[in-house]
Amino acid sequence: MLTSFAPPKIQLLSQILPSEPLLLMGAGPVPIPHAVAQANSVVINHLGDTMNKVVDNVKVLAQYAFQTRSPYVMGVAGPSSAAMEMGITNLLWKGKKALVLENGTFSNRLGQMASGVGADVTRIIAKEPSPLKLDEIKKALESEKYDLVTLVQGETSCGVYNAQLKKIAQLCKANGALVLVDAVCTLSTMPLKMDDWGLDVVITGGQKGVSSIPGVSLIAFSKDAWDVIEKRGKTGPHWCLSALGSFEFWGNHDYHYTAPVPGILAMHEALRLICEETLAQRFIRHKQSSLALQEGLEKMGLELYVPKEYRLNSVVAINMPKGIDGYQVRSYMAEKFNVEISGAFGLEIIRIGQMGEQCRSHNLFRTLHALGMAFRNEGYKVNLSAGMAAMEEFLARDSDEIILL
Ligand SMILES: *Cc1c(COP(=O)(O)O)cnc(C)c1O
Repeated sequence: MLTSFAPPKIQLLSQILPSEPLLLMGAGPVPIPHAVAQANSVVINHLGDTMNKVVDNVKVLAQYAFQTRSPYVMGVAGPSSAAMEMGITNLLWKGKKALVLENGTFSNRLGQMASGVGADVTRIIAKEPSPLKLDEIKKALESEKYDLVTLVQGETSCGVYNAQLKKIAQLCKANGALVLVDAVCTLSTMPLKMDDWGLDVVITGGQKGVSSIPGVSLIAFSKDAWDVIEKRGKTGPHWCLSALGSFEFWGNHDYHYTAPVPGILAMHEALRLICEETLAQRFIRHKQSSLALQEGLEKMGLELYVPKEYRLNSVVAINMPKGIDGYQVRSYMAEKFNVEISGAFGLEIIRIGQMGEQCRSHNLFRTLHALGMAFRNEGYKVNLSAGMAAMEEFLARDSDEIILL
């Protein structure tokens, strides 16, 4: 007897999805501009003249976003973690030494990946929420020769900003190590200059700072990194994540695997909008938006998790007052106000994203209002109108003033 399976009975998508989409104000994914959504609905041949033009455009647009002239800029079919893994697996293997600078979930993930490919891994761990310490890194680099140093520019998981990135990269260069930077939440939201700062690998995702869709990421390699990759040839364990393999498509317009066409078109539009806005203007918008939000939160009576000196603007972490359940606060915001923010990986905080389209004043007002109402609903006293007023005042400030902050 052949077994036959009846078709499953399922809820329709229309029954699962909310009738009104939630405003995504968490740690990613973030809202996407209309041009990105439209491009994401188009499928064309992944090879041929039309796609070649798209690929060439994405590369020059991405070079601007990364601030690099390197030709080794590529899209990656996969989450930001796939781009992280591409960086790691192409530069580390058994016999290679990696120094992993860790201060949260994502910098830890880079360490897991480095161990996974068999590299000899040393970790310097700064407990959350602390930034990486320059003197510790210097000591480590001077006492041992490392092939690769890994770090994140902004730790989305706890809201810490590693503002010393440029200096850390200089130390790496001076001691003969390549440096790999996860800029998933920070690229195009705060300054990063790949060439000027001497960064060898820079990674970003779609669904954070650049405001595209999840699932298509970007990676850029320096000439120094590429030399290591070419010397090794195509002998690594990963086929899809091979940098040389991917460059068949991104460098030579040849077939590697069928590229995620809609996601690349979406990335094209997201990057085009970044270029249109210009990085300089975009950084000001992000800074003003995030500082206004921070001001509003504090004036409302809430406490921020990370001290001001190394607070990340791209993701703002808020301490949960004693006895208040962050999950209840977030659920109330979603149910009553259609606004979604994030919890955290094991920390007593909630997080509000300030990446790309999240940094619009109408989104800020809606979010702060929903948050204040949710705290009130939990019986926690907040001064919502003082918070809203402080935020409004900050948003009205002149951009010349914001630059100087
Ligand atoms: C979100 C994030 C990641 C992981 O992104 P995925 O797309 O989920 O793989 C890595 N690093 C940082 C800094 C992030 O914010």
